[in-house]
Amino acid sequence: MYSAVNTRRLGRSPRGPMTPSSTAPSAKVIVISYYSLLTPCKGRNSVVVSHHSLTHRGYLLRVADTYGIHPFSLFERLHGISRVERRHLRWSGIAISNTAALAAGRVANLEPEEIQAMHLTAYDGSALDFGDLTPSVFDPTKDLPADRLPMTGAGPLVNAAWDRYCRRCREARPGFRAMSWRLRVHLVCIHHGLLLDTENQSRGEQITATDDDIASQAEVLSRLTPSEQHAGFFADLDLHLASRIPMWRTKLQGRERKSPEAVITSFTTAVQMARSPGYPAYQGLAEWPVTKGARALRAPRCLGFVGTTYGFPHLLPTHLFIRGLSDLLHQPDVRTARAVSAVGSFMSATGRDLSTACVLLPERRRATTAARFLKYLITLEDQGRAEQFWSLCEMAATELLRDDVDYRDREQLCYDEGAYLAATSAEPSAYVRTVRTWLVDQWACTFTSSNVRTSVRDGSIEHFDRLYGAAMRSALEHHFRRVAA
Ligand SMILES: [Zn+2]
Repeated sequence: MYSAVNTRRLGRSPRGPMTPSSTAPSAKVIVISYYSLLTPCKGRNSVVVSHHSLTHRGYLLRVADTYGIHPFSLFERLHGISRVERRHLRWSGIAISNTAALAAGRVANLEPEEIQAMHLTAYDGSALDFGDLTPSVFDPTKDLPADRLPMTGAGPLVNAAWDRYCRRCREARPGFRAMSWRLRVHLVCIHHGLLLDTENQSRGEQITATDDDIASQAEVLSRLTPSEQHAGFFADLDLHLASRIPMWRTKLQGRERKSPEAVITSFTTAVQMARSPGYPAYQGLAEWPVTKGARALRAPRCLGFVGTTYGFPHLLPTHLFIRGLSDLLHQPDVRTARAVSAVGSFMSATGRDLSTACVLLPERRRATTAARFLKYLITLEDQGRAEQFWSLCEMAATELLRDDVDYRDREQLCYDEGAYLAATSAEPSAYVRTVRTWLVDQWACTFTSSNVRTSVRDGSIEHFDRLYGAAMRSALEHHFRRVAA
């Protein structure tokens, strides 16, 4: 018998509709919906109480234990299956379709939400990277394929092929199964400091984790709440793990059996790398192929901008660029430096990785800009100036978001004779022919990087901007406000 534990109902995220691919904004967004507290069960099963972070499998085991029946026959009763095989248990504790939850809830006298809450993610079609799998896949009563599902298709977080457990946790509460034990990124019990055992391969000896290992594991478990930033962290972590643990995505169990200590050490290092974004040399990205390194590079901080690339310039506008980035990036030509700065600002605004942030640019410039970005950031990092680069990018991003200017509009406006007059009368000593170039290059054409003038390439316009830019810009702002009024 188990003692009744009173748990409070916590707020749950709304559950989405049943179509996985159509509701997912991006198939690669990998976020865990983690419902850790469950309500006490009602009715005839009231003696068996759902427990903090208990998985559906653990719940079944405890109910079966209480009534002295085999868990499989309970599973048969619950889902109306005549003969349970391992394939029926494939998604148990990970995901269940609403139809199956409703049917099982009727038998167990539980709300479907309570059944859903005992699964790693309440199935909303976007929480995990389930790709094109249909809802019936998560229904144990449906005719499931006899062959194995490709588990790597469910995203880097989930392991459905085998169970893990902490022997000390289970000694204290027999039959208990934590939901997070189904995650491939949960290797160490943070309460007991032990490497988790696997269900069918119990180790003779206990493998004890170091304080660093436990801290890294705690860091991972603290990021299970759904957010864009956490999704990015797990995507990066997956890349770092894959580069350190051979066959991480498919053969982790074998690696754990062969060299458990090496696996924990690699895991801890990978977590440290994934939690230090923005420093490619430290993170080891310099040794990776450029395309892979670009997927794992993010800004250290993110302003949380979720809009589109709309309004972000391809080249950082001069007045934001010459404030410090121009000196910092003196090695590359000005056009490259301004493209790198624009991408860096976009990364700071959105939290996207370098590879994804490069969609900002015209297609033919993406790959080269990503490669140059990595190259120059690594140089800056060697000089101890990467932190400064990111601070300046963040400042530029803050200003771009605050100004909310569409540079395509400015392209229209800079041919406006009134704008030209406003700029020249603000700075009478400015060379008037250069004012037109300045208007086109610095006010407008920062958006269309395909149209870069020689004055931008040789940097002479920067000098002009330092002398006259500030006054002309404020005169232009004033002019456009008056025209709009
Ligand atoms: Zn434990």
